[in-house]
Amino acid sequence: MLAWPPVPVPQIPGRGSTIRVRDTASGELRVAAEGPTARMYVCGITPYDATHLGHAATYVAFDLLVRAWRDAGLEVTYASNVTDVDDPLLERAATTGVDWRELAASQTALFAEDMAALGVLPPDVYVGAVESIPAVVEAVELMLATGAAYRLDDGDVYAAVTLVPGFGRLSGLDRQTQLAQFAERGGDPDRPGKRDPLDALLWRSERPGEPAWDGRSLGRGRPGWHIECAVISRDGLGVPFDVQGGGSDLAFPHHEMSGAHIVALTGDVTARPRVHVHAGMVGLGGEKMSKSLGNLVLVSELRARGVDPRAIRLAILAHHYASDWDWTDAVLAQAEARLERWRAAVSGNGGPPAEPVLAEIRAALAEDLDAPRALAAVDAWAELSLAGPGAGEAWDVSDPRVEGAPGVLARSLDALLGVRL
Ligand code: ZN
Repeated sequence: MLAWPPVPVPQIPGRGSTIRVRDTASGELRVAAEGPTARMYVCGITPYDATHLGHAATYVAFDLLVRAWRDAGLEVTYASNVTDVDDPLLERAATTGVDWRELAASQTALFAEDMAALGVLPPDVYVGAVESIPAVVEAVELMLATGAAYRLDDGDVYAAVTLVPGFGRLSGLDRQTQLAQFAERGGDPDRPGKRDPLDALLWRSERPGEPAWDGRSLGRGRPGWHIECAVISRDGLGVPFDVQGGGSDLAFPHHEMSGAHIVALTGDVTARPRVHVHAGMVGLGGEKMSKSLGNLVLVSELRARGVDPRAIRLAILAHHYASDWDWTDAVLAQAEARLERWRAAVSGNGGPPAEPVLAEIRAALAEDLDAPRALAAVDAWAELSLAGPGAGEAWDVSDPRVEGAPGVLARSLDALLGVRL
């Protein structure tokens, strides 16, 4: 699958340091990648209703990590997927009377436009579910052969996930909560014939009116969601890779299951992603933004209304990625005002030296991608800059760094925060 075009990243002075992020499994700050390489997989969209603010906040969060890693001199491989065949997509296609392929293609294209507008660097490895089918079939055959999976009478194949060593450790939930979240988030705990209600669908045999592909010994059908991500991440990055990312609603069951599949496929309990990082949920009117509630704010609609995508990005960055927050008109208005202030501040002749601000942005990102702290440092610089020379100790016109400061600061914001003024 073709990703959106590369987003240029300007050169800036110096180099970032080691980045630490909050690992969901341990709850602790962990080094995101030891280097010299950094490999990350972030779960992509199911393309039937792209791109609401919750999606945007997740991809902007992990974009900060890619940028910080690159700034620290690491060689980054970022992989993602598009779940371009799955139940919700087929259901939406059926209700709207649109061919599912057209729906997937149009929403995938819209997502790419939104990501490019928001300045998100494209993934290096970008694979669709349909493209991954031959590799998934091979993986499911292997799991059947090793006893990690079993087949029901109708040909559906399930993974015995709860028997995989370490299952449940990522999310740390009790069984009752696991069952509730599994049912809520696309699972089928009540499916008759399963050995354990939590067992995950690997291969769904062909049903009338549903698309299906050649599954060799599995028969015709289509892949389950968790195995899709397990296979795409394994093949795209190698295992174990450094960071598995996504929204916090993916921790269970999706990441727990895909991690268990990776262990089943490799026979290695250390093959799971080293660190799991989860972004918070964006709400509207106090409720989580979701398709079922119909309270989505779409990036494309904001753009169509003439909202500057940089303001959308700044509105997202004003919140720590791990926190849950509400999208409001005031949040957007504050971001627009900030964007205007920063633009004015970098357009002057000279300004306070940018190096201390750059150092503070780097330090903030290194400590669990603390974008609000980075924004505060830029706000302080902008205030001094707009006040003019002589207004503060840091703003002395005889300092040789003053003349180039606005340029250095603008390039730093572009490179590290993805905000091109
Ligand atoms: Zn995934």
